[in-house]
Amino acid sequence: MKYTEGAPIRDTKAPAGPIEERWEKRKFSARLVNPANKRKLNVIVVGTGLAGGSAAATLGELGYNVTSFCYQDSPRRAHSIAAQGGINAAKNYRGDGDSIYRLFYDTVKGGDFRARESNVYRLAQVSVNIIDQAVAQGVPFAREYGGLLDTRSFGGAQVSRTFYARGQTGQQLLLGAYQALERQIAAGTVTMHTRHEMLDVIVSDGRARGVIVRDMVTGEIERHLADAVVLATGGYGNVFFLSTNAKGCNTTAIWRAHERGAYFANPCYTQIHPTCIPVSGDYQSKLTLMSESLRNDGRVWVPLRKNDERAPGDIPEDERDYYLERIYPAFGNLVPRDIASRAAKNVCDEGRGVGPGGLGVYLDFRDAINRLGRDAVEKKYGNLFEMYERITGENPYDVPMRIYPAVHYTMGGLWVDYDLQSTIPGLFVIGEANFSDHGANRLGASALMQGLADGYFVLPTTIGDYLADGPFGEVDEEAVAEAEIKVRSKIDRLLAVNGTRTPDSFHRELGKLMWDYCGMERTEESLRKALERIPELRQEFWENVKVSGTAEELNQVLERAGRVADFFDLAELMCLDALVRTESCGGHFRAESQDADGEALRDDENFAHVSAWERTPDGPVLHKEPLEYEYVKMTQRSYK
Ligand SMILES: Cc1cc2nc3c(=O)[nH]c(=O)nc-3n(C[C@H](O)[C@H](O)[C@H](O)COP(=O)(O)OP(=O)(O)OC[C@H]3O[C@@H](n4cnc5c(N)ncnc54)[C@H](O)[C@@H]3O)c2cc1C
Repeated sequence: MKYTEGAPIRDTKAPAGPIEERWEKRKFSARLVNPANKRKLNVIVVGTGLAGGSAAATLGELGYNVTSFCYQDSPRRAHSIAAQGGINAAKNYRGDGDSIYRLFYDTVKGGDFRARESNVYRLAQVSVNIIDQAVAQGVPFAREYGGLLDTRSFGGAQVSRTFYARGQTGQQLLLGAYQALERQIAAGTVTMHTRHEMLDVIVSDGRARGVIVRDMVTGEIERHLADAVVLATGGYGNVFFLSTNAKGCNTTAIWRAHERGAYFANPCYTQIHPTCIPVSGDYQSKLTLMSESLRNDGRVWVPLRKNDERAPGDIPEDERDYYLERIYPAFGNLVPRDIASRAAKNVCDEGRGVGPGGLGVYLDFRDAINRLGRDAVEKKYGNLFEMYERITGENPYDVPMRIYPAVHYTMGGLWVDYDLQSTIPGLFVIGEANFSDHGANRLGASALMQGLADGYFVLPTTIGDYLADGPFGEVDEEAVAEAEIKVRSKIDRLLAVNGTRTPDSFHRELGKLMWDYCGMERTEESLRKALERIPELRQEFWENVKVSGTAEELNQVLERAGRVADFFDLAELMCLDALVRTESCGGHFRAESQDADGEALRDDENFAHVSAWERTPDGPVLHKEPLEYEYVKMTQRSYK
C-alpha cells in the first residue's frame, strides 16, 4: 500500500506557558455563549458511554439542544458498562505521595513518551473533579472503615490512586452519567434516539453539520442536522475479532468520519491486556477480561521447567518462576500492561506456558488468601472470581487462574487538537474514539478518567468557543443528499453481492490475520504479508459475502456486514502505520527494535511524533505532529 508524506500538523489550541496554567488559560480564553443563544444551538452527540453520556448530559444542562444516538436499546448498555477495575484520580487520600504532577508523569511515561504533555497534565488536573462529580451523583465507590473513599493500585504506578466500585466501576459510573442524561431527556434538552446507527457525517461548507443514521428497527435512513457533531463512539479493538470489547464495538462512526476528511491518528497503537481468560476454541466469539485490579493481590507465575504438566498445587515454591517480580522488582506484578503482556508471551514462547496449547500463565491468589483471609479476597474481587468460575469451571479460590494477553483497547483514534476538535471544523471526538492522552500505551483505570474528563469538563468548555460563532445557518441540501446516497448505495451493494460466506466468517479471518501479523509483536515481514492479504480478503468479501434479509427491517447481518467492510479498510491503515513506525513503543512492539533485555526500543530521533493519516483518492497521506517534552525527560522506560 503506497502512501505519501504531507505537511506536518500542529495542535494550535494548547496555550503556552507553565503547564499547570494552560487549562485555566484555555478556559478563560474560550468564548462563552450566553444562555439565550445556547437555546438556538443544536449539538449532536453520537454515543452514550461514559464519554458521550456525560457530554450529552452536561451540554443539555448548559442549555444547548442536544440530540443523542446509540445503537443499543438503552444508553446504559454502552460498552463502558463492562469496565471493571476502577478510575484513576490524583486525590492522594492515602497520603502515599500522589499528586497531579505524579499522575501526569506516570501517564506520560506509561504512554512511552508518545502523548502530548499539555493534554496529559489537564487530564491529571481534571481527574480530581471527576470523583467529586461522581460522588455527588451517588456513585457508590468503595469506602474504607473511616469513611474515606478507598483506592487500590493499578499498573504503572507506585501509589494507590484507583477509585473503584467492586469489580463494576464502569457500570456504577455509567449509571451516574445515565441518570444525569435521563434527567436532561425529561427536561427536554436532550432528545434520545436508541437503536440508531450513525453511518455518515454531513459536511457542509467545510463544517460538520449533521449525521445520517439508520433506524435499526425499521431500516429507515434519516438525516439529523446540527451546528456541531460530537463522536463518542468508543474503540475499534474488535478489528481483531476476538477481544475483550463488547461484540457490538466497531469503527464505523469514526471510519466514515475519516472518509469525510477527519485525520486518523496512530491507528497501530493497540493495547493487549495481560490478564484475560485464554482462548478456548476455534468457535469462540468473545474474550473475557480479568481486571487488572487482580494484580494487586494475585501473583503471576509459570513453572521454571519447560512443558511441566504437573497441577499447579504440585509445583513446589522453588520450582515456580514469579517472572514479573523477578524481572521488574520495583513494580513487580504491577508493571504496565504492555510490559506484562510481552513478558507472558515470552515465557509461553519459551515453552513454559500452562493450560491447553501452553498459552497461559498463572494468576495465583494463594498467598493473598493466606494473608488476608478468603472473606477479604471475596469482598474485593468476588464478582470477578465468580465470572471466572462460570466461564472456565475452575474455582480460583482453590486453583490459580489461568490468564493470557488479549486485545483490549485502542489508543489510536481520530486526531483531535487540545479542544478535542478533529480536522473537520465542528466535529469533536471524545473518549476512546479519539487518539488523545494515552500515547502508545494506556495505563489501567485511565480510560474511564479520560472519557469522563472529556465529557463532563473539557468538551463542554471547548465546544462553546466553536459554537460562539453559530448558529451556522442552512445546511447545503446537496451535501445532505450526497451523504444519504452514499449510505444507501453501500447498503445496496452489500445486499446485492448475495454470495456464500457470512460477514462473521470474513471478520474472523481478518481478525486472525491481524492478531498473527499485527498483534503483540510485529515485524516488517509480517506487516507486509498482512498488507498483501488484506486487499485479497476484502475483494473476496465484496464478491462473496452473503447478507440475508432486506434493508427495510431489523437486520443484524446487514449491520455486521457494514462494520466488517469498514474493519477491512481500517486494518489496512493499521498495518501501514505499524510498518512505517519502525521503532517499538508501548503497545507497538516491532521485533526489529528491542534492547538487549528484549524491551521496546524507541527511536526518538525519527518517531517522536503523532502519525495523523489523511485519506485521499490517491491513497493515504501521513502528517506528522511533532511531540515536545518540556517537563518529563524522555528516557528509556524502566520498571525495574
Ligand atoms: C472488559 C473491559 C473492562 C474495562 N475496564 C476498565 C477499567 O476498569 N478502567 C478503565 O479506565 N477502563 C476500562 N476499560 C476501558 C473502558 O471501559 C473504555 O475505554 C471506555 O468505557 C470507553 O468509553 P466510551 O464512552 O469512549 O465508549 P463506549 O462506552 O464504547 O460507548 C460507545 C457508544 O457509542 C455508540 N456508538 C458507537 N458507534 C455508533 C454508531 N455508528 N452509531 C450510533 N452509536 C454508536 C454506542 O452505542 C455506545 O453508546 C475496560 C474495557 C473493557 C473492554
